[in-house]
Amino acid sequence: METQETGDAVAARAALAHANRIVVKIGTATITKQGKGGIDTAYIYHVAEQFAELVREGRQVILVTSGAIGMGARQLGLTKRVTEVRLRQACAAIGQPLLMDEYRRAFGVFDLNSAQLLVTRDEWDDRASYLNLRKTVETLLENSVVPVFNENDSVSTAEIGNAFGDNDRLSAYVASKIDAELLIILSDVDSLYDSDPRENPNAQRIPYVKEISAEHLAAAGGRGSEFSTGGMKTKLAAVAIARDAGCRVVIAHGREPNIIRRIASGEPLGTLFDAAHALKNRIRWLKNSQPRGRLTIDDGALAAIRERNSLLPRGVASVEGEFARNAVVLVNDIVKLISNYSSAELRAVMRKRSEEIEAILGEGAPHVVARPEEMAFLDE
Ligand code: GLU
Repeated sequence: METQETGDAVAARAALAHANRIVVKIGTATITKQGKGGIDTAYIYHVAEQFAELVREGRQVILVTSGAIGMGARQLGLTKRVTEVRLRQACAAIGQPLLMDEYRRAFGVFDLNSAQLLVTRDEWDDRASYLNLRKTVETLLENSVVPVFNENDSVSTAEIGNAFGDNDRLSAYVASKIDAELLIILSDVDSLYDSDPRENPNAQRIPYVKEISAEHLAAAGGRGSEFSTGGMKTKLAAVAIARDAGCRVVIAHGREPNIIRRIASGEPLGTLFDAAHALKNRIRWLKNSQPRGRLTIDDGALAAIRERNSLLPRGVASVEGEFARNAVVLVNDIVKLISNYSSAELRAVMRKRSEEIEAILGEGAPHVVARPEEMAFLDE
């Protein structure tokens, strides 16, 4: 198992400095006062300060936070870890507004607004809810508001399968569904090791993982801290979800000073899980697939697609062929992309401004012809 930084690792770390959309997941053990329990307000301020600096740099940052159940339990004077499901759900209902209040105040000090998003798996799996959720998040980010996610523990039911069960997995879903480039998972574990560091004093830190192997899974062992839900195994499951969506993941110790900013500027901290293959495979697949239709776009749209991987219906001048949504389409003989629209839909909205699209195709209709990462330039 590699334990040294390699050429690939150096390149991947450097790319983190350019990650524009970043999801940060913070675990319960990290936000509570070390050794004493109860929320650590000073730490929350430190998180807010780092978010504010990233936002100032023009980056979009999303928070996924745990801690609701713990705060609710404390409020009820419960001293042991709460395990009974209905009591956990009640504690979440009590603790979530308290948790949110801490963040709201801390972000406010740095002139940032924050917004609460409570979700279960259902919202991501149902296409209409997912599109609404995604639009809400996009709109919050456009307005420099920090979206703060947690699982809606009071309504999630593991028995009927709509629960994430842990926020590591939730953070990976958030990262993959909103196309984040970097997911930072902060907890009381500073990195992946080649064996359990609590049992083996010679355990080696693994700074970079290109592909998750059986060895990594074996090394991850069982749970992390006894207070948190997700140990290293859960984290690796989350990493796999994010990587598949082309998102890099860093697992690091949340109490390291300025950890979020330092990771986002490419410092070699924690374990970096690369994601390069997901993207490359997709582009390779796109280049090799047979287009179902052809588009001609005007010169302005051609410049935008080259510069920003962006194509709006407004720039489409003609549509040839019949195709369904998600078909591969060839544009001006130089770009292949996966179309968000069917040929009929595209004919209805071509030359139209973005504001007119939903009136024509209905609420939730896509505003762009294709996602930026679903375009392959044949001459590159
Ligand atoms: N959603 C839970 C809470 O806020 C935590 C789940 C987790 O830590 O993975 O208390």
